[in-house]
Amino acid sequence: FNTERFGQHILKNPSIAREIVEKANLRPTDKVLEVGPGTGNLTMLILEKAKHCTAVEMDPRMAAELTKRVQGKPEQRRLEIIIGDFVKADLPYFDACISNTPYQISSPLVFRLLSHRPLFRIAILMFQREFAMRLVAQPGSALWSRLSANVQLYAKVDHVMSVGRNNFRPPPNVESAVVRLVPLDPPPPVRFEEFDGLTRVIFSRRNKTVHASFQAKGVTEMLEKNWRTWCSEQNKVTENVRMKQKIDDILEETGYNESRAAKMDLNDILKLLSAFHDSDIHFA
Ligand code: SAM
Repeated sequence: FNTERFGQHILKNPSIAREIVEKANLRPTDKVLEVGPGTGNLTMLILEKAKHCTAVEMDPRMAAELTKRVQGKPEQRRLEIIIGDFVKADLPYFDACISNTPYQISSPLVFRLLSHRPLFRIAILMFQREFAMRLVAQPGSALWSRLSANVQLYAKVDHVMSVGRNNFRPPPNVESAVVRLVPLDPPPPVRFEEFDGLTRVIFSRRNKTVHASFQAKGVTEMLEKNWRTWCSEQNKVTENVRMKQKIDDILEETGYNESRAAKMDLNDILKLLSAFHDSDIHFA
């Protein structure tokens, strides 16, 4: 029953496990974070290459199995197991993250890693194939989405390999893929909540025009509310504003009126965001 609750599909193919760890190019001085070690198939390989591994595992029985696996061995003191939910756990410093991820937490995992400071050097992560493909999708392609833009703003993402379901026991219902995530360092000076707020609006209808997306219910009201908050924090006077008109003007002036999110790249989205900011309009 835990298979479903914790997404426990153990990687049974040793050569794939080895390849995943090799892709991280671990250094002997590295501290590694592993999410969901399960019985430790990746963990043991990580400990061959790196100085230390912190493994966060939610299922105490899996944690016990992993503890037994290193008991009395030299690896024991280089492995720390945190029993708990990765989403809530306090994270230590780490240079690299390796994870055959429980797919239920794919999105929170990526964004939690990217907001962690100091930034890590590299992450090698296994995801459900569709999720991985959206992470690496390029503007103009079928899978280019809010997720692609939000992640690629902060990291370079590459597809590393596809992994068929029969490499796991029990086999999951979906195909998997491994991606490499390298955070941009320094990160762009853009607040995630702002960028995410804009992509939420324009990708809500990715094939419609940006103008149409801004017409959606609640958008004008949300931006007007944020504008008032911003202005009062800056001690600016708020005259009676015609927010709809203001939005139309910005879209007109930037030339993105008739653009579609499906075809806009990061630069386009950032330009649009800063035009709104120039008019004191914020998305978060
Ligand atoms: N890494 C192992 C492997 O490759 O064989 C196990 C992979 S299995 C797909 C996912 C593991 O993540 C399971 O051991 C499960 O108990 C654990 N897990 C699920 N949700 C978790 C969470 N929120 N935080 C930490 N671990 C979690």
